[in-house]
Amino acid sequence: MEPLLAIRDLHTEFRTGTGIVRAVDGVSWDVGPGETVAIVGESGSGKSVTALSVLRLIAAPPGRITSGQIWFDGLDLLQLPPEAMRTVRGGAIGMVFQEPMTSLNPVLTIGRQITETLEQHRDLDRGAAYKRAVELLVMVGIADAARRLKQYPHQLSGGMRQRVMIAIAIANDPVLLIADEPTTALDATVQAQILELLAELRKERRIALVFITHNLPVVAEIADRVTVMYAGEVVEDGPAAEVFAAPLHPYTAALLASAPRDDGTSPVGIPGMVPMLHNRPPGCSFAPRCSRRAPSCEVATPPLNTLRPDRHTRCLRWRELA
Ligand code: ADP
Ligand code: MG
Repeated sequence: MEPLLAIRDLHTEFRTGTGIVRAVDGVSWDVGPGETVAIVGESGSGKSVTALSVLRLIAAPPGRITSGQIWFDGLDLLQLPPEAMRTVRGGAIGMVFQEPMTSLNPVLTIGRQITETLEQHRDLDRGAAYKRAVELLVMVGIADAARRLKQYPHQLSGGMRQRVMIAIAIANDPVLLIADEPTTALDATVQAQILELLAELRKERRIALVFITHNLPVVAEIADRVTVMYAGEVVEDGPAAEVFAAPLHPYTAALLASAPRDDGTSPVGIPGMVPMLHNRPPGCSFAPRCSRRAPSCEVATPPLNTLRPDRHTRCLRWRELA
């Protein structure tokens, strides 16, 4: 199966006062048509920067995509002229971010924001765009659509705003939806509702979904495949069920062990912190925090081992873990 999205050896960096931050350092992953891929990893591992790179939304300066390829539906997005990229963004690729308050325009009504997206991408008159906006709100489970369209973002609850963001993201029938921590700012009940909505859309409309999260129990429920990122690199990937049942990287195992439990209790997190991404020391980036490290781990930089085309781990000792 040809991937719909294929990221190849992507490098994205930021120039900062303390040096160059290699936020994404040679990342590759694929999303097949209709597939749901979860990208997981602690805060600071490069998940959002990868997603923003795909959408070419990295602010330059200070950011820059220095090398790599991003293939989407036969196009190398990194080579597209800006106006062609604007057509893809919000068109064939929809996006939902964590905090809808910062992505919605506070001075425009919900209706105006939805119709604006529609008018940007299709040849619709005001009346047709309005009609479609009503349909979209119904689709994302917002009752009383006609009244809601006249309201401003601050008049809606957090969950409702996120539904509006999803309506905007799917307005132009995308084949790929990139959702970056879409439920993190919401309380648990609303989180579950938004996840259910995403799951429905994916099923009914066959939209491929890139789901960025640090909530592992959610991943187990919705993802076909998982990519685990740490310190700007992919450290493990594979079919979700397999990665959960038998992780082949100690970082994945540690993430699973520190995931919030069903009973609401939160076990201790992984000791230590994601390293600073400039001045990378030699050896495995996770070694300082790894309970399974051997002396060799602090010397040799582990390659991404390919077990199968769809199963990788960046651990020198994966055979012993397996
Ligand atoms: P994640 O989404 O996995 O939490 P990010 O992709 O947001 O992580 O960030 C990866 C790294 O890139 C972090 O170290 C972060 O500090 C750095 N970074 C992201 N945006 C910028 C920026 N605009 N300027 C400098 N560093 C940045
Ligand atoms: Mg992020």
